[in-house]
Amino acid sequence: MNSCDTNMVDEILKLKKEKNAVILAHNYQVGEVQDIADFVGDSLRLSQQAANTGAEVIVFCGVHFMAETAAILSPQKTVLLPDIHAGCPMADMVTADKLREFKAEHPGVPVVTYVNSSADVKAESDYCCTSANAVKVVEAIDADEIIFAPDQHLGHYVSTKTSKRIHLWNGFCPTHRRITAQEVSKQKEAHPGALVVVHPECLSETIALADAVASTEGILRYCNETDAGEFIIGTEVGILHRLQKENPGKKFYPAYERAVCPNMKRTTLEKVLFAMQDMEHVIKVPQDVAARAKLAIDRMLEIR
Ligand code: SF4
Repeated sequence: MNSCDTNMVDEILKLKKEKNAVILAHNYQVGEVQDIADFVGDSLRLSQQAANTGAEVIVFCGVHFMAETAAILSPQKTVLLPDIHAGCPMADMVTADKLREFKAEHPGVPVVTYVNSSADVKAESDYCCTSANAVKVVEAIDADEIIFAPDQHLGHYVSTKTSKRIHLWNGFCPTHRRITAQEVSKQKEAHPGALVVVHPECLSETIALADAVASTEGILRYCNETDAGEFIIGTEVGILHRLQKENPGKKFYPAYERAVCPNMKRTTLEKVLFAMQDMEHVIKVPQDVAARAKLAIDRMLEIR
């Protein structure tokens, strides 16, 4: 870190105290942003952690839907997104209107929506799910058919673990789609002793080559707890920063080094500083939408 970055970090920490703020960073953020955060993790857990603090301001270093989730869980706090253009192409692949049309084609079928979705879409859903609990949520619902949105790959993965009929929305994560089976095979050849761990947003042929399939927090847990010394990681490359930090004696290789989410990389230290100085960009969710979206999140959380 150069002296300019050090000054910036000092200024951010000073403002954090003055404004009674908490800084959250998703596992895919750049390393220096992860290093100044109070909490680093997946989007739902971060929002829950922030809700449990006495902070008045949440600075969410992530993408738009994540800041919305934080606002839904902490309506009395001010939620800031350092870069207003940090969106999620997968979340944008479904809208509340389009989901309503899909529901009309499948009357009475419950909707399970991945947390990587807008508040409007969550509000149209019966249940939310994360990549960690998607199978459990689908299995717990008293119905033989489920609408699953927006990620077709996570939905397909769930369909291989349940006998229920899953109606898939056709969204996908462009970053995880780049992690092809061919790229994983190349890494396996280069590192024959390494275990392959991939995220369920990956293509099914990529998942077929994995020793383990897990959410970002699941990947971290698996690598922390498994005795192996080398791992090939099939998700956005930002997670390697935390993996390496928490496991200095182990080696981690990206399944595909160009699996970079450009939206996740929009947040820089400078933007975090500006966000706190100018109290921008405030993310708000209309009360009625937030109430309906929270219902879908709460239903998920009730499933044990
Ligand atoms: S990695 Fe994929 S799912 Fe996550 S924010 Fe980027 S585009 Fe969206």
